[in-house]
Amino acid sequence: ALTITGVHKAFAEHEVLRGIDMEIRKGEVVALLGPSGSGKSTLLRLINHLETLDAGTISFDGIEVGYRDGGTALPEREVARQRVQAGVGMVFQHFNLFGHLTARENVAVPLRWVHRVPKDEALAEADRLLGRVGLSARAHALPRQLSGGQQQRVGIARALAGRPQVLLLDEPTSALDPELVQEVLEVVRSLALDEGLTMLIATHQLGFAREVADRVVFMAEGRVLEQGSPQQVLDNPQHPTAVRFLRAVH
Ligand code: ATP
Ligand code: MG
Repeated sequence: ALTITGVHKAFAEHEVLRGIDMEIRKGEVVALLGPSGSGKSTLLRLINHLETLDAGTISFDGIEVGYRDGGTALPEREVARQRVQAGVGMVFQHFNLFGHLTARENVAVPLRWVHRVPKDEALAEADRLLGRVGLSARAHALPRQLSGGQQQRVGIARALAGRPQVLLLDEPTSALDPELVQEVLEVVRSLALDEGLTMLIATHQLGFAREVADRVVFMAEGRVLEQGSPQQVLDNPQHPTAVRFLRAVH
C-alpha cells in the first residue's frame, strides 16, 4: 500500500498541504479531485520525489519514498533513478518526453538507465509497451511528429517501462484538445480495469472518475475534505466546499 501520513508542505509562507493522510491499497484506483490550487499536483510531486516534504511520511509497502527538506540536492537523473527504483511511475500533464528521442527510445529510457536492460532488449520491450497503448505504428516518430494524445500515450508507456508498483497521473488529459481526450482515457481505463495497476489520478474528468475510480478523494486548500466511493462523493457530497465545486464543474 501507498501510505501518506501527516504530510505538510509550504512554499514560503503559503501552506499548500496542511496534514494529508491517505492510504491507497494495492490494485486500488483513486481519483483526486479538487479546485485549482488545492494541492493535488504538489501531493503527487511529493510522492514522486519532485519536491521535499516539511513534515509527515510517505511510504510504499513500508519503504519511505518521500524526501524531507535538508537532504543533499541530487542531480535530476539520480532522482529519476531513485523514483523508478522506489516503484513510483508518473504521467505528467505536459508529457515531458525527450524531444530528440523517438517514441520507442523514450519508452526505453527507464529500462536502460534504471533497470539496466541491454539496448536491444529495452527497445523490444518498448515496442511491446507501445503496442499496449496502441502506438506500434508510430514507434519511430519523434514527439513533435505526434499528436498530443499520441505523445501522452508514449508518456504512459514510458511510465509503465519503469515497472511501477504505483502509477501517478497528474491531469493526464488537461493539456489535450477535446477530441484527443478519449483515446488517452481509454488507455488509462484499460490499465485500471484490465491490469489491476495501483493508481492515483488527479483529474477534472468526473465521468472518468466515476467509471474508473474505486475511491474519490476530494481536496481543498491542502486538506482532504471528503472521500468515498464515486457515488458517495460525486452524487451525495457532504462538505459544502465539495458541493459547490461539484455543482460548478458539472
Ligand atoms: P490545479 O488543479 O490548478 O492543477 P493543484 O490542486 O494541482 O491545482 P498545486 O499545483 O498543487 O494545485 O498548487 C497548490 C498551491 O501551491 C498553489 O497555490 C500554487 O501556486 C502553489 N505552488 C505550487 N508549486 C509551487 C512552487 N514551486 N512555489 C511556490 N508555490 C507553489
Ligand atoms: Mg495540478
